[in-house]
Amino acid sequence: MPTYECPICSEEKLVESGPSAYKCQHCRASILDGKLVCSACGKQNPLEAAKCETCQEPLTIFSRVVSRHSKSTRSWRLDQARDQANTLKAAEADASEVRMEVFLEIDRKRKTAEREAALMQEEADRQLFHYVRIGLGIFLAIVAVASLIIALV
Ligand SMILES: [Zn+2]
Ligand SMILES: [Zn+2]
Repeated sequence: MPTYECPICSEEKLVESGPSAYKCQHCRASILDGKLVCSACGKQNPLEAAKCETCQEPLTIFSRVVSRHSKSTRSWRLDQARDQANTLKAAEADASEVRMEVFLEIDRKRKTAEREAALMQEEADRQLFHYVRIGLGIFLAIVAVASLIIALV
């Protein structure tokens, strides 16, 4: 495996990792098409750039060392922010689950009420039919009695 001198740290640890792509095994610099690839955002910067044009990530070995302390503080803050975001997201998911539960409960109650209403309607229909039958029976009895009286008279 041929190694080249890294333009960032000057160590002979640059190895070919793909077509016109190189990686330094010493400083972890990643070079693609003669540009320095930002390890944070993937933006291709000029080799002489000290910081990424997009995300300000330090790109040279010197600025990496200088910013190591502030970077670790920053990434700790970033992790914390990410944790908070995850907690928030989890809480949100819980809330939507609760909302879903409430919705399902309302739906269940509505269905029960509908079923009860249907049963009551059925019962009312049955009672009405019952009374109609009784009324019809009485009417027929009266008619029969009346025709019997007429026949006798
Ligand atoms: Zn290097
Ligand atoms: Zn970047």
